[in-house]
Amino acid sequence: MGQIINLTCSKCNKNIELMAGQGIKDNDLDRVLVFFDENTIRKIRRAIDSSKSSFWSFERKIALCRKTGNIKAVPVITVNTDADKKIPIAGCDCGGDHVFYDTEKILEGTVSIECPACKSPMSAEDAGMWD
Ligand SMILES: [Zn+2]
Ligand SMILES: [Zn+2]
Repeated sequence: MGQIINLTCSKCNKNIELMAGQGIKDNDLDRVLVFFDENTIRKIRRAIDSSKSSFWSFERKIALCRKTGNIKAVPVITVNTDADKKIPIAGCDCGGDHVFYDTEKILEGTVSIECPACKSPMSAEDAGMWD
């Protein structure tokens, strides 16, 4: 099941709700590919085809879009290569790079996310699960 994370900025009251992690339908490749555009799907298929194990995993990761400055739960497929490397491929319409955050660290407060509106550190709250 996935986690719902609620980010709040105490300075400007901005609130962001994020659905992170994995849902119960997220273990089927055809079902998760709908979260990616055509170019990205080609990239994912190439990465999976070039690895013998064809092992992949999918989750929605909390990320900062470097280009737009937005905080989102971005769909990410991670393909394991034969050399035991993991290639994360993000499906996001910003078209740019991302800074990914560890959900547990955000909840513990060891990592904080800057408010996209006023740049203050936001507080994070576990707001339940989703499936
Ligand atoms: Zn993005
Ligand atoms: Zn703020």
